[in-house]
Amino acid sequence: MAKKAFKAESKRLLDLMIHSIYTHKEIFLRELISNASDALDKRYYRALGDENISFDREAFYIRIEADKTSRTLTIRDTGIGMDRDALESNLGTIARSDSFDFKQSSDPKEDISIIGQFGVGFYSAFMVAKSVTVHSRAVDSEESWEWYSEGADGYTMRKAADMEPGTVVSLVLKENAEEENYDDFLDPYRLKELVRKYSDFIKYPIKMETIHEESTEDETLNSMVPIWRKNKNELKTEDYDSFYMDKHFGFEKPLRHIHVSVEGAVSYTAILYIPAKAPYDFYTREYEKGLELYSNGVMIMQKCGDLLPDYFSFAQGLVDSADLSLNISRELLQHNRQLKLIAKRIERDIKAELLKMMENDRETYEGFFKGFGRQLKYGVYTDWGMHKETLQDLLLFYSSTEKKPTSLKEYVSRMKEGQKAIYYAAGETVEKLARLPQAERLSEEGYEILYFTEDVDEFAIRMLNEYDKNPFKNVSESNLDLQDEEKPEESDEQKAIFAAVQAELGEKVQGVRASARLKSHPACLVTEGGLSIEMEKTLAHMPDNPGIKAEKFLEINTSHPVFAAMSVAHPDSAERFAAIARVLYNQALLIEGLPVEDPIAFADDIWAIVG
Ligand code: ADP
Repeated sequence: MAKKAFKAESKRLLDLMIHSIYTHKEIFLRELISNASDALDKRYYRALGDENISFDREAFYIRIEADKTSRTLTIRDTGIGMDRDALESNLGTIARSDSFDFKQSSDPKEDISIIGQFGVGFYSAFMVAKSVTVHSRAVDSEESWEWYSEGADGYTMRKAADMEPGTVVSLVLKENAEEENYDDFLDPYRLKELVRKYSDFIKYPIKMETIHEESTEDETLNSMVPIWRKNKNELKTEDYDSFYMDKHFGFEKPLRHIHVSVEGAVSYTAILYIPAKAPYDFYTREYEKGLELYSNGVMIMQKCGDLLPDYFSFAQGLVDSADLSLNISRELLQHNRQLKLIAKRIERDIKAELLKMMENDRETYEGFFKGFGRQLKYGVYTDWGMHKETLQDLLLFYSSTEKKPTSLKEYVSRMKEGQKAIYYAAGETVEKLARLPQAERLSEEGYEILYFTEDVDEFAIRMLNEYDKNPFKNVSESNLDLQDEEKPEESDEQKAIFAAVQAELGEKVQGVRASARLKSHPACLVTEGGLSIEMEKTLAHMPDNPGIKAEKFLEINTSHPVFAAMSVAHPDSAERFAAIARVLYNQALLIEGLPVEDPIAFADDIWAIVG
């Protein structure tokens, strides 16, 4: 029998499949089942409009048979079938050249990604099979035909034994190789697992004969009705939770599920979950965001990242839309208008759910925020603040007066009359910040201060710039924008002392002056010019440390005994004076969590003063 050659691009695709090093070869089964399901759909629609075609729901099924002796795996369907022409034109060439632009993918890595994300239909069988036979009879034909191929060098066609309408695809599996165990695909448990994983929601029964207590019986492997197609009223939280667990979306029960069915410009159904805890790799590069993507019940992608913005990368779940084609390529998908619309609405739904949680179930929201708040803050900060409007109301910061996390909206609602700014302090822990000298006066006058304890906090807030027209202000900034803020008067004697301190410290500080904010502490550092000390610290930890420093001023409390001691020492006990000046500065550094440059000299200074 003469062999016929494949069309050029088909041959390339076949080559790719035969020599595939792709690790998820198992998806071939999904592809073949999906073809069978399509064929059943076609027959079903045909039957609806034609009295001559029998219509018996029972007769619509897919059957898998595995024969270990001949190493043959068979997928049989009672679908529309193919006549001679259809076999040749469908399997001898790539059916729809628009399914992806083949000429563009000359890079083998890209080829693998094509297989991985979408499969490429029928030809994926050649990833696992050394030969493929397709035996088919079209519904409206009396003849049965057989298509046979061992791969890239062509295929043969012949008239075959009679059969009922439908298609039987038989694969003789490749020999096992060192790293590949193709026998796996003959194991009933493995097959069952694969059907569950990829094709559970195919709407026709996928049957397999299994041996049960010495007799064989027909088992339907798939559940057929996807949970997301069920009526919300029929489902309980437990159902959603167990689906979440089955799917391995996470190990702990999710905090919330969102189940939406949308009809309109784009139609889709989605189930989204908000997990309780961040997975261990959440804040690493290894973590991959994405939702499962289905086209009419058939999974086309396990992690579709384009459906989620980075700041909601914690969300889990799936989207099923009949508007998406099964064989759409990754590149096309990225630019797919429908997908973008879906992503937009999903973003909106997640945000609404989070706001609702924050309002009605604060404790749970706080738990959520512990795990994922950091990601939201990064979201505010990245892309030049493009998403800050979306995210600002989801943020929580510890409040000095409420003694618990608070939202910006809540803070603003409590602002004092005439208060011009939202105050915050940045540092390592809430406990340390509560004792921050710079905040003494503000706290005493009853101003609420937000405590920022994560390095991203201040960067995110700088990006926000203001909330509800209220600017943010670091309590360590030199100008606090207080209503009755007056510059403390400095006497000539005090001025002389400050000048002497400045002379001793040199370029370490930009200036030395009397403080209006200190109550019980002798001195503190304040900054000007936008860059705070906390930001300086964060930048110092960056791999390509730009060495940027905050502009620091030393503020001294003139009513503190230390200042009195300085006055006594100035100008006659120059050494003692200089030691006090250095200790004040170094202590201020320590309070800020900055290292003292010379700890030995610092210790000596203290003993010199005490002694
Ligand atoms: P796709 O399914 O994306 O069109 P495939 O390469 O998987 O691409 O299949 C090519 C064509 O072959 C299908 O469009 C369909 O017309 C036909 N086909 C494949 N499998 C079957 C089947 N089991 N029954 C009937 N037709 C089939």
